[in-house]
Amino acid sequence: MKIAIASGKGGTGKTTVATSLAYVAASDGHSVAYLDCDVEEPNGHLFLKPQIIREEPIRKWIPVVDPDRCTHCGLCSQACRYGAIACVGEETLIFTELCHSCGGCLLVCPEDAIREVPKPIGRLRTGKSGQVEFVEGVLDVGEAMSPPAIQAVKDTAPDVELILYDCPPGTSCPVIESVRGCDLLLLVTEPTPFGLHDLKLAVEMARALKLRFGVVINRADMGDREVWDYCSHQRIAILAEIPDELAVAEAYSRGEMAAESVPRLAEQVRRLLEMILSGAPV
Ligand code: SF4
Ligand code: SF4
Repeated sequence: MKIAIASGKGGTGKTTVATSLAYVAASDGHSVAYLDCDVEEPNGHLFLKPQIIREEPIRKWIPVVDPDRCTHCGLCSQACRYGAIACVGEETLIFTELCHSCGGCLLVCPEDAIREVPKPIGRLRTGKSGQVEFVEGVLDVGEAMSPPAIQAVKDTAPDVELILYDCPPGTSCPVIESVRGCDLLLLVTEPTPFGLHDLKLAVEMARALKLRFGVVINRADMGDREVWDYCSHQRIAILAEIPDELAVAEAYSRGEMAAESVPRLAEQVRRLLEMILSGAPV
């Protein structure tokens, strides 16, 4: 089962929920993998403290034009949806930062003038945290295109009972790449106007992608009741309500696994896990 843990905004406790789920699932004897898909700023390793066993480059494929074959017909430029290739006079230029490695330009080139070469964009790190299989992608500084790195992380998922995707915040391309193909999406939010606003965007995304999803309300005893009203009105299942606990914040700030330091949190996460495994009512 693949579970994506996402949130419309950062700072809602998404990584706390994801790492706690991994820790509790492994403690309860499930085989589990934690995949940090937040490749621009992976931080699950701070809490899971994995022993890294293997590290390898992540590459994306980018086109290169053979100037001896290119006739500057412009077909590749017209075909590229991302503005990553342009014909300017006698030059055919490629902007590798914009390239999505879709291969479209290769297909349309009538002169067979384009080939692909690999370009390193980051690192893939795999290891173990206790019984939790750990995978993270780390995008190189200055590299703008995170979806290929996210795909590399997901492709490395081991064969286990439960795969957890810790997604980047927001609702843009990297999040969509991260949640694609999951069996259940957990949207972590908090009961504040910002939390509600960004939850609505995340719900729109989940519905557009036709994903099964439910909501986890973190810091549930603060703020107002508008998130509950919205979920009730929209018939969205609230799968867990995690109270605001100083002990969780303290564990987080010390870089500790919150579910290990705060037994009450572990119990709440265990109930969430049981609900998920028994087929959450979403
Ligand atoms: S591979 Fe795709 S995104 Fe990259 S330049 Fe070619 S058409 Fe554009
Ligand atoms: S489609 Fe091929 S021949 Fe035409 S401009 Fe692009 S690289 Fe050159």
